[in-house]
Amino acid sequence: MKCYIGLGSNLAEPLIQLQTALQQIEKEPELQLGKVSSFYQSKALILPDAPPQNDYINAVALLETDLSAALLLQKLHKIEASQGRERNEKWGARTLDLDILLYGDLHIQTKILTIPHAQMQYRNFVLHPLFEIAGAIDIPGLGSLSEMAQKIAWDGLKKLTKH
Ligand code: AMP
Repeated sequence: MKCYIGLGSNLAEPLIQLQTALQQIEKEPELQLGKVSSFYQSKALILPDAPPQNDYINAVALLETDLSAALLLQKLHKIEASQGRERNEKWGARTLDLDILLYGDLHIQTKILTIPHAQMQYRNFVLHPLFEIAGAIDIPGLGSLSEMAQKIAWDGLKKLTKH
């Protein structure tokens, strides 16, 4: 199955967090890493009245895997945990966040998973890097990625030079 994942970090050397996560994915025999987007810098989304946070580094990567979406999520959580991710408050700062954006063209809705990722259409730091590597795909239930990427403002999002 072709899957797209989102990577994000805003703590403890975010660039290195993303690079390490990609190396860890490459080492997993059940995951084949495909195209990786440029790294992007984005402003943290914070809840009203929450203290300011460091900017995030974000990227999107293509993976091929025969794992189910639930097992893929487990693998991604294992990688997050190995990089010191602590699950704390919603929208809190994090060393590494790995999300499944798309799993083939399937819709999945379970207790632990919503695919396509529930927030992806609102997030410029997902749509722009995804468009960079996936181009003219359709997002199941949402339509043309290129139209969505064209409509969403950059609004502080910056593409960094290729890693
Ligand atoms: P987060 O704080 O972003 O790491 O997300 C926490 C929880 O979101 C995870 O434990 C998952 O069970 C749930 N979740 C729901 N849909 C997804 C998805 N598409 N990718 C990753 N996590 C998801």
